[in-house]
Amino acid sequence: MNKELLFLPGPVTVAEPVLAAMSKPLIDHRGPEFAQLLQRIGGRLQPIFGTQSEPLLLGASGTGGLEAAVTSLFQPGEKLLAAPIGVFGRRLVAIAQARGCKVDVLETAWGHALDAGELEKRLDSVAHDGYAGLLLTHNETSTGVQNDLEAIAKVTRGRDLLTVVDSVSGLGASPFSMDAWGFDVVVSASQKALGAPPGVAMVAAGKRAWEKMETGASNFYFNLLKARDFAHQGQTPWTPPISILYALDVALERYEEEGATAVYWRHQSYARAIRAAFAALGLKLFSQDLAHSPTVVAACVPDGVDASALLRNLRDMRGIVLSGGQMELKGKIVRMGTMGDVSQTDVLGALGALEIALLEMDVPLKVGSGVQAALRIFLDMDAAALTPGGAKNTGARTDERTKATSP
Ligand code: PLP
Repeated sequence: MNKELLFLPGPVTVAEPVLAAMSKPLIDHRGPEFAQLLQRIGGRLQPIFGTQSEPLLLGASGTGGLEAAVTSLFQPGEKLLAAPIGVFGRRLVAIAQARGCKVDVLETAWGHALDAGELEKRLDSVAHDGYAGLLLTHNETSTGVQNDLEAIAKVTRGRDLLTVVDSVSGLGASPFSMDAWGFDVVVSASQKALGAPPGVAMVAAGKRAWEKMETGASNFYFNLLKARDFAHQGQTPWTPPISILYALDVALERYEEEGATAVYWRHQSYARAIRAAFAALGLKLFSQDLAHSPTVVAACVPDGVDASALLRNLRDMRGIVLSGGQMELKGKIVRMGTMGDVSQTDVLGALGALEIALLEMDVPLKVGSGVQAALRIFLDMDAAALTPGGAKNTGARTDERTKATSP
């Protein structure tokens, strides 16, 4: 087997021209060419974040971006509210606790999205003993759930607390309006929906966040004030991952060429097709209706099937790489990503491979049912997209939460 396709929820299959960009000779990271590169990437990211602020680029994975946000913004002893909906939300809690913050947690059952009404009640109930910040997840990769940030923004906007949003696995795959939604800091990473290799975290911060940081961000390497001051000179404070930045630049150029609406459509159609196929093959979706993520589909394996054996079969026999569950979901679910340089044909092929693997594991199923269900979604969605006024043409809201029923 010499060809592998990553259907992981990151890192993703990266397009050849993006990979090729990394073989270019290195340049002086304190010189004019690098300054242009930084500026170009920042400008390309602004509409994706939906912000007028300049997204900062850090040499780090997504977790580094989250640590930069939390440790630049909050001081030890400050009180925060976190609303995790899965493993990565919990990681954000752990980062804040490691910073010495006191973190209250608003729990949500895994598989569900955050209930904006519950959040509102919680925030209202602490009016006199307020929180300095709120930690939110946009897209929870461990459960295949996406929060409705627009609805959440309606209860957070205008409050005297700073919101940090982890959109590591969400940004770029569906509409995002940081400024209009009033979020203070948004974090993402190169290796997800933007289709670049891992190694660059992106952090955008608004005016209120900068004002707070100016009162004393006391961290060092991940200090966003330093990152901003250097960015104004077209530099990064520390030696940057130049080759990954070349790749990110090309990935963003390709994003622009495809067009944001078509990118949203691609992720949404793949996710719906995968969900339809999973349902037809007896894999019960882990995410609840109205909470499905466009970038990752998580589903329970059929009774009697060993999830790790299934993943091994797909990887070793068919070159299709999916991932399993994390923490308490380990061994219980499989997750299939929709991001990166994979085509409709790749998705159908991967679903066919899944079907063969399940048949080999003696799962009773109707041959072809998974691929057929996915194909039906593609045909229907493509037809809808091509009609005058179809979602591809109008830029209509295309995220998964608008779909009342699965798939
Ligand atoms: N947050 C979310 C939602 C993620 O999906 C991930 C990675 O999958 C992270 C944070 C951590 O990112 P990284 O692995 O790049 O540090």
